[in-house]
Amino acid sequence: MIPTTFDYLRATDLDAAVEALATAPGARALAGGHSLLPALKLRRESAGTLVDLWPLRGELAGVRRDGDELVIGALTRYVELETDPLVTERLPLLAHAAHQVGDTQVRRRGNIGGSLAFAARAGDLPGVVLALDGRIVVQGRTARRELSIDELLVGDQQTALADDELIVEVRFPDRGCLGWSYQRFTRRTQDWPTVAVSCVRSEAGTCVALTNVAARAVRAGALEAALAAGSSPNGDLAALLGEAIDPVDDLKASADYRRHLAAVLTRRALVAAG
Ligand SMILES: Cc1cc2nc3c(=O)[nH]c(=O)nc-3n(C[C@H](O)[C@H](O)[C@H](O)COP(=O)(O)OP(=O)(O)OC[C@H]3O[C@@H](n4cnc5c(N)ncnc54)[C@H](O)[C@@H]3O)c2cc1C
Repeated sequence: MIPTTFDYLRATDLDAAVEALATAPGARALAGGHSLLPALKLRRESAGTLVDLWPLRGELAGVRRDGDELVIGALTRYVELETDPLVTERLPLLAHAAHQVGDTQVRRRGNIGGSLAFAARAGDLPGVVLALDGRIVVQGRTARRELSIDELLVGDQQTALADDELIVEVRFPDRGCLGWSYQRFTRRTQDWPTVAVSCVRSEAGTCVALTNVAARAVRAGALEAALAAGSSPNGDLAALLGEAIDPVDDLKASADYRRHLAAVLTRRALVAAG
């Protein structure tokens, strides 16, 4: 299908981009376009003005250290996350998961900011960033603020971002990774995950996040607490996850099958993370 007509604006700098988002009629940010453009074509979404962020890659892409944090620009593409030496060394879970997303074409345009702003329940990066305790830096027309990933994610394709706010970077605490695993089940190669589990182990404890078993990615709080208390959950794993998850039936899987997958993939993730 063909989208309804819209104006197109190439952002010249960050201030101009947020100003346009605040003032242009029906303005929407355009990053890699791999979620927004198909939705516009299907007329599931509409836009009066597309504010193209791609010219801001010089300002909003790249990976750097800032004290004991790793800072990743919003427009850093999946392919860059896969190969960046700082990400592969300090956040191997993120590098690995980025490589699982879609196909090469998607990974060469899709980026961390777009994935988190789109916040699809089946999206790979929201769960990964949740397990890594990422913090999201957001620029609005009048102020810059920082949210936890938990505060950003509201529901399926719903975030706490205001209309004039852009994700500019994602900050990760550098805790030193002792072990990690990303378990992702798909019905076809290159498909979105039916269920995925992100697990990362550090001196601070074990973090486990689950994808596509609730309206948004969720942390397995009861399981993490049990692990911190020194127990090694086996038979009661499903019960410990039960508090966090609320899966739905869809064309890919029933809610019951998703519950089953959540327990199986979590067990595998815990074993693989060591
Ligand atoms: C064939 C195909 C397969 C795919 N497979 C997967 C998969 O397996 N796993 C997966 O996770 N994803 C998958 N995707 C989606 C892909 O990851 C998207 O790239 C991602 O979800 C959105 O990033 P984007 O840069 O393309 O955002 P866009 O499509 O440009 O934007 C998406 C939304 O986010 C907003 N936005 C974008 N950037 C910002 C920002 N910096 N601040 C605020 N708002 C912003 C836009 O306004 C829009 O509402 C697939 C996509 C396709 C087309």
